[in-house]
Amino acid sequence: MRINGIKDHLRKQKIMGKKSTFSAAFASALAPFDKFDNVSVAEAIRDLGQNPERDLNCVYCGDTAATWDHVHRRVIGGEYSGYGHRIRNLVPCCRSCNERKGKRTWEEWLDVLSPPDIEERRNNMRRFLSKPSAAPFTVEDMRRAAPRELSEFLEIRQEVFRLMKKADDLADVIRETAIKAHSAR
Ligand SMILES: [Zn+2]
Repeated sequence: MRINGIKDHLRKQKIMGKKSTFSAAFASALAPFDKFDNVSVAEAIRDLGQNPERDLNCVYCGDTAATWDHVHRRVIGGEYSGYGHRIRNLVPCCRSCNERKGKRTWEEWLDVLSPPDIEERRNNMRRFLSKPSAAPFTVEDMRRAAPRELSEFLEIRQEVFRLMKKADDLADVIRETAIKAHSAR
């Protein structure tokens, strides 16, 4: 370790620095989720060309799966994307692919990996995603169904950010004033 690393700790820590975490929390709260249902999960796994009775493999590279990847990201640019915690948005995935896929789409990630059986993997994913329950459930769908509640929800989010900013400004004043008072002693 070199001395430069200390710089990360020697700076102002703003509440608004956590804004993207809060945005994601609001988006995640809106996102629909499926209840666990053995039959639907087994059917989805079979559509991926895998045996639901056996250990599962990564849909991208074929290694032993260790986690579930959200095929479509739930949050894009701080907003709910239309895709949630749903059976047809979750695929078995190895740790390496889950960490490295990042913001890429499943198609882009398959292209990066270019496994020898890429065509078969593409077809599996397309079959998996072709079912009605894989379709997005958009903010517009929500607005049509519950316009008043959605507006209020979005206003609350704005208000939370406004209060976070206000608290940051107050923290500046408190800190600066206290430091001045301290050094005047
Ligand atoms: Zn993988």
